[in-house]
Amino acid sequence: MDAPLADRLAAVDARIADAARRAGRDPADITRIVVTKFHPVSLITDLYSLGVRDVGENRQQELTAKRAELGSPEGMRWHFIGQAQTNKARPVRAASDVVHSVDRPRIADALNAAGAGDVLDVLLQVNLTDDPGRGGVSPADVEALATHVHGLDALRVRGVMAVAPLDEEPARAFERLRGCADVARRVVPDATWISAGMTGDFPEAIAMGATHLRIGSAITGPRPSRD
Ligand SMILES: *Cc1c(COP(=O)(O)O)cnc(C)c1O
Repeated sequence: MDAPLADRLAAVDARIADAARRAGRDPADITRIVVTKFHPVSLITDLYSLGVRDVGENRQQELTAKRAELGSPEGMRWHFIGQAQTNKARPVRAASDVVHSVDRPRIADALNAAGAGDVLDVLLQVNLTDDPGRGGVSPADVEALATHVHGLDALRVRGVMAVAPLDEEPARAFERLRGCADVARRVVPDATWISAGMTGDFPEAIAMGATHLRIGSAITGPRPSRD
């Protein structure tokens, strides 16, 4: 087992607890998802033995392959945090416990149709940048998307998700996300999750009310390059 991995995980958890206390929040209300994309399955096995139960992946094929290789360790939850393609809705749904990236009615419809009698937890991904080409629904369209997804039997809207823009103070961006979370909650009262905060900005996300952090490199170390 990689001792630095345990040390990095403990250090991040201490920073999470610290940021939560400073915000007057209970650290137990915050779920730390470890983003394991591009890393081998052995890293997930190591994380599991350190108590990690929430992992995040951003590519469907990688998620599907890792999940198949690992089997079904007790209590493990797989979070899909990447762009979801409509034609991959079935494998995404089959491999995910939570999909963080529902950002348009078409992908919601496809994930809904791919259900097999179960209900999938989803988050509405919000685009906090000015670039309409980035993933996510624009803040102005959150209410309409929440209404649409709320009407689908095989999906359960749990809240919102976003990535902070690179060229803005994360705290300001997360403030807008909190506004979007309020909008979604007016449509779906128990949609209380806010997925925000990565290696570079998770303390700011906690201060703003994030309930689910997606932390990669601070815990895993640098990612192997993609190809
Ligand atoms: C890779 C990724 C993360 C984690 O990024 P780090 O900076 O390594 O913590 C979080 N969210 C999304 C959507 C990602 O793709």
